[in-house]
Amino acid sequence: MIDVLVIGGGNAALCAALMAREAGASVLLLEAAPREWRGGNSAHTRNLRCMHDAPQDVLTDAYPEEEFWQDLLKVTGGQTSEPLARLAIRESSHCRDWMRQHGVHFQPSLSGTLHLSRTNAFFMGGGKALVNAYYRSAEKLGVQIRYSAPVDRLELEDGRFVAAFVGGERITAKACVLAAGGFESNRDWMREAWGQNERGEWPSDNFLIRGTRFNQGVLLKHLLDAGADAIGDPTQAHMVAIDARAPLYDGGICTRIDCVSLGVVVNREARRFYDEGEDFWPKRYAIWGRLVAQQPGQVGYSIIDAKAIGRFMPPVFPGVQADSLPELARKLGLDETIFMQTMNDYNAACRVGTFDHTVLDDCATEALSPAKTHWARPIDTAPFYGYALKPGVTFTYLGLKTDETAAVRFGGVPSDNLFVAGEMMAGNVLGKGYTAGVGMSIGTAFGRIAGTQSARAAMKSGAIRAAA
Ligand SMILES: Cc1cc2nc3c(=O)[nH]c(=O)nc-3n(C[C@H](O)[C@H](O)[C@H](O)COP(=O)(O)OP(=O)(O)OC[C@H]3O[C@@H](n4cnc5c(N)ncnc54)[C@H](O)[C@@H]3O)c2cc1C
Repeated sequence: MIDVLVIGGGNAALCAALMAREAGASVLLLEAAPREWRGGNSAHTRNLRCMHDAPQDVLTDAYPEEEFWQDLLKVTGGQTSEPLARLAIRESSHCRDWMRQHGVHFQPSLSGTLHLSRTNAFFMGGGKALVNAYYRSAEKLGVQIRYSAPVDRLELEDGRFVAAFVGGERITAKACVLAAGGFESNRDWMREAWGQNERGEWPSDNFLIRGTRFNQGVLLKHLLDAGADAIGDPTQAHMVAIDARAPLYDGGICTRIDCVSLGVVVNREARRFYDEGEDFWPKRYAIWGRLVAQQPGQVGYSIIDAKAIGRFMPPVFPGVQADSLPELARKLGLDETIFMQTMNDYNAACRVGTFDHTVLDDCATEALSPAKTHWARPIDTAPFYGYALKPGVTFTYLGLKTDETAAVRFGGVPSDNLFVAGEMMAGNVLGKGYTAGVGMSIGTAFGRIAGTQSARAAMKSGAIRAAA
């Protein structure tokens, strides 16, 4: 019998598989996707948020534990587990040497609107290179890997893992790590979670999924039905406002529209609805998907002028361009009169300050609701650009409750051979909100812990069997 079965094929699963194998366990990894689509959402990533007390290779300055924790506390509005968050934060300070041993390379942060050179280590070649490196290393170490192997249910006995089923095939193991992502790609479950709004719309019908189509939440649902302890709200997710022209799945990073803080955003009725300059973009980009989801038709329009060009990473498709604001309204299909009223009100409310996109500057609106509290400059310089936005779901936060050992819990009792990592448990740390790069910090920390714990559990069960 195999020692450790790892279910999933992204960062958390690979970290678990590598750690379990390094601890001496035999490991089988089951990835739902075919080989060419392996790696889940992790293949789309670019960086990892890291605690460090002094400059470190690609990371500038320092990002101490307390500051990382305060950032998380702020974005989650306190909906986080401090012990688990601090565990992930501390792990992020020393995991990179291990990552390098498995072939991951780092590079300094990219320029653009993301202020990340201090806090985030970028993967050379992106998440695709990271997962490829991990797969290569896993194969070399003797981890068995099966693709196109979606697990549809588990056999459990008193909170213990017994076997997993891929179709009719029953696969037993001494211990198991669940790292099969969230349920964001499951359209029916998203519809059920979001329901119908006061306008009679089903908001989630207009959502796009930024990552893999394989995160259907099959095992999450199965485990919840089997009585595993849950954490999180099914409507909470990392949601970005992305280019409305993006495909339903796997549009990835290049569909993100990163100019929100440089301009204004209006809804289908041509009215602004939120402070576009509330905070640095890495601390705010993940709330805009949700904000757009609450608007009529689940659509928004990011409006900028020529002054913004060159200050943000351009999306893959060019924006709608116009030589005047009324022309832009017409091209975007917005009510021209209301749009011009919104823009004139905004432009008139901008107070002159010293524009600096790298700090929380003093360019703010006055007597305008909603206010724009930083980087507010009149939108007055042709050409003007507009990007239609739709909610892009990155990953859901409903997950399995866990503890410092990454054990799945049933009625408050930790399983002694079933563990969880990554998106399937990220909700323990992320009740809501997000700060860039923390998904990989959580997945790496708990993937590694789950790998070590599962190997330990397998060895223990082996020793018990041998003694019996
Ligand atoms: C476009 C995009 C960009 C992102 N950028 C960043 C970033 O720069 N930094 C960051 O920290 N986070 C980023 N994230 C979030 C990040 O991807 C996740 O937090 C992280 O990858 C989660 O890792 P995971 O292993 O839990 O899930 P995933 O990487 O999604 O892996 C889940 C795996 O489980 C498999 N699976 C699903 N169901 C089953 C089943 N029933 N049986 C077997 N296998 C199954 C899937 O095929 C997949 O391989 C980004 C996400 C997206 C979509």
